[in-house]
Amino acid sequence: MKFDVSRFFEKDRKERIDIVAKFANLTEQEIQTLENSGGISFEQADKMVENAIGTFSFPLGIATNFTINKKEYLVPMVIEEPSVIAAASKAAKIAKIRGGFEMQNDESYSIGQIQVVNVDVDSAMQKILKSSKEILDLANSKSNTLSKIGKGAKEISCKEIRTDAGPMLIVELLIDVGDAMGANVTNTMCEGIAPLIEKITNGKVILRILSNYSTRRMVSGTATFEKEAVGGQETVDNIILAYQFAAYDEYRAVTHNKGIMNGIIAVANATGQDTRAIEAAAHAYASKNGRYTSLTQWDKDNDGNLVGRIEIPMSVGIVGGIINVHPTAKICTKILGVQSASELACIIGAAGLAQNFSALRALASEGIQKGHMRLHARNIAAAAGATNDQIDTLVKKMTSEGNISINRAREILGEL
Ligand code: NAD
Repeated sequence: MKFDVSRFFEKDRKERIDIVAKFANLTEQEIQTLENSGGISFEQADKMVENAIGTFSFPLGIATNFTINKKEYLVPMVIEEPSVIAAASKAAKIAKIRGGFEMQNDESYSIGQIQVVNVDVDSAMQKILKSSKEILDLANSKSNTLSKIGKGAKEISCKEIRTDAGPMLIVELLIDVGDAMGANVTNTMCEGIAPLIEKITNGKVILRILSNYSTRRMVSGTATFEKEAVGGQETVDNIILAYQFAAYDEYRAVTHNKGIMNGIIAVANATGQDTRAIEAAAHAYASKNGRYTSLTQWDKDNDGNLVGRIEIPMSVGIVGGIINVHPTAKICTKILGVQSASELACIIGAAGLAQNFSALRALASEGIQKGHMRLHARNIAAAAGATNDQIDTLVKKMTSEGNISINRAREILGEL
């Protein structure tokens, strides 16, 4: 069935929910969850964290126009910042002209680390590698589910680090965690094999923990943005120059990557991911060559169209964590219709590239403040004390005057 999601932003809430519900075959109960609180009950919150006193809501919106690996998506985003969802939708619309985003995510290996001290590193390494099978079998005995589906611990490797406290052996366990983020299963396996590692090496194990630097769970991909739709050759060339600024200057790169994370974290929030894990890995990867740089690259093809590429570690899951507990995260995952963690990683990567495109396009042409402040004007009107039926008038007047500020909002309210 073909869904008309054009001018989604002009529809009212009910019409938007109707479109999403039809697109994703949502049940009455799921629609009600979206319409009511959309969040978790206090009882659920109280089970999730300690000392709970309440819950805290954020806006949930839908980015439209996404075609990723030839499949159409409505992409749920949870974010407090205005203009992110509009920017993602606009970028996806332009990318769609050339077929959308082509993304890849080949592996789902998490990395567990075991720190061994008081050890002769070279001979310990030999012994560990010789006992690989025994160690892997023990690790896999800690998760029946992963073993049953052909996933689980697959490889062992060793490295030496030289520290102020002397040399240490770091044993790394590579675990195919399938469709889970995998932090808990990784930690369980690392703790499970630690006594065996001590026995084999005659050393002392200190830490047994997942590494969030998920370099064996990379997502990468590209999209082409047609020159005319971008705003012409000069805008394409300016975007490439803007990218070069980020590629060679850390102060620019951090802001450039923050824009990418606007897209990534919004989708990660909506689908109940561990956003800190994604952020930490992304920024480490941005520094992989010893200097912090852009997580994307921008160039043009032979016809002058803009071509963007992203490559980023992406540790996400569609089972486990809060994904099966948070009702809205479950619904958002259903709206995406994802069949695997790998598919979700591709969508999140595409959202990051889309967001980066829109930010660069705005920066390299009219600047971001015009669009951003136009969208932010509603927040300013509300903060100045405007009632629901005053907000539109107030926003219109501030926008037409080009003066979007809390002081002007208060003055206009006074006049009204
Ligand atoms: P989880 O503990 O709920 O485990 C997921 C489990 O689902 C697996 O162990 C497996 O038994 C089962 N499963 C069923 N079907 C599966 C499939 N197709 N593929 C894979 N597993 C399948 O969740 P998790 O993913 O191990 O842990 C994620 C949570 O851990 C997040 O909430 C995160 O915040 C938290 N956490 C993070 C860190 C960190 O990042 N450093 C540390 C500790 C905990």
